[in-house]
Amino acid sequence: MFERRITRQISVGNVPVGGGSPVSVQSMTTTKTADVDGTLAQVYALAGAGADIVRITCNDVEAAQGLAEIVPRSPVPIVADIHFQHKLALAALEAGVAALRLNPGNIRNETHIKTVARAAKDRGVPIRVGVNGGSLDKDLLDKYGSATPEALVESALKEIRYLEDVDFTDIKISVKHSHVPSMVAAYRLLSDAVDYPLHLGVTEAGPLPGGIIKGTAGIGTLLNEGIGDTIRFSLTADPVEEAKTGRALLEYLGLRERKGLDLIACPSCGRAEVDVIDVARRAQAALEAENLPIQVAIMGCVVNGPGEAREADLGIAAGRGKGHMFIKGQVVRVVPEDEMVEALVDEARKLVEQGVEARLAAADANAEQLSRLVREQLVEIQGDANDAASKRARVAKVASN
Ligand code: SF4
Repeated sequence: MFERRITRQISVGNVPVGGGSPVSVQSMTTTKTADVDGTLAQVYALAGAGADIVRITCNDVEAAQGLAEIVPRSPVPIVADIHFQHKLALAALEAGVAALRLNPGNIRNETHIKTVARAAKDRGVPIRVGVNGGSLDKDLLDKYGSATPEALVESALKEIRYLEDVDFTDIKISVKHSHVPSMVAAYRLLSDAVDYPLHLGVTEAGPLPGGIIKGTAGIGTLLNEGIGDTIRFSLTADPVEEAKTGRALLEYLGLRERKGLDLIACPSCGRAEVDVIDVARRAQAALEAENLPIQVAIMGCVVNGPGEAREADLGIAAGRGKGHMFIKGQVVRVVPEDEMVEALVDEARKLVEQGVEARLAAADANAEQLSRLVREQLVEIQGDANDAASKRARVAKVASN
């Protein structure tokens, strides 16, 4: 397991960021901020999908006024996203936001930046120095030729100096780039240079599935090195997907506790006794509707399924027209194939309510034996793909001839 790099801790509203606190998930609304009810509905949807912090654009006076109504009704801390006009940062502070994001590429006036920092300090509000490869300061583009990792970091460090000049250290930083290797390199450089908490993201990652792959490659690589305190996937999609993806990545990396379903499924192969893709899709829909914190496995054949997925809380494998349901690898029930999904959801509910021991105790007495019989029949017909001992013997025989 990787060690998290220790950073300073700041607080975005009631969410601690850095200093060993849980890595938080962020997303951003896509509504017009002046549409208070529409924006709040999206904030609630994002919070429900796993966002700990939500950013909202503050691009005009009406948006700042909208924030004044949104902030007190939001279930999560709100960060105001500020570009170009420092006065809108002051207005957002007046509206009560929990944090500001300033883009050093388009708010360049040192006096303006310091004015905002003093006002934020008076209110105890942190600032994210949010550098973006696509909107880098022109002087740095001229100096470096392009938005290199070094250019991104220099931009961030310059802004931090302005903030520190007025004794403002309630800072987090991002150096986002749409090119994954550049993003990773920039954050590594930054992590060596400062101990402020870092907000990770691959900017403009695009639609699914490429956007998720780029975000996961960049954010996942850094998290795995212990770098990063809060994350955002920038997807060209419903922002609920950003929140869900961010949360899922942290859960898969073991950085946050599982809140919902973790569905694992075999990729299927010639041994499959059922249409795994269809069963997995139906099971996912039904189980997600239940919102149970459980890992469930859908396996195409009973020959290998229960063994391969023995770590799952619950699973089901197909074999000779039946669904063989197992808990921690032990077959507990055999159900008709067309009732697989229904039975799985029912057992998932009971398992979460009653626990593993109780559900193992409630297993059908002959399920394990019945399942073994089916397995033996299938192995008889298809051969045992996992029969490593006889394979090794055959390989050794060929080699010695
Ligand atoms: S569980 Fe069975 S069907 Fe699925 S990949 Fe493994 S061998 Fe193939």
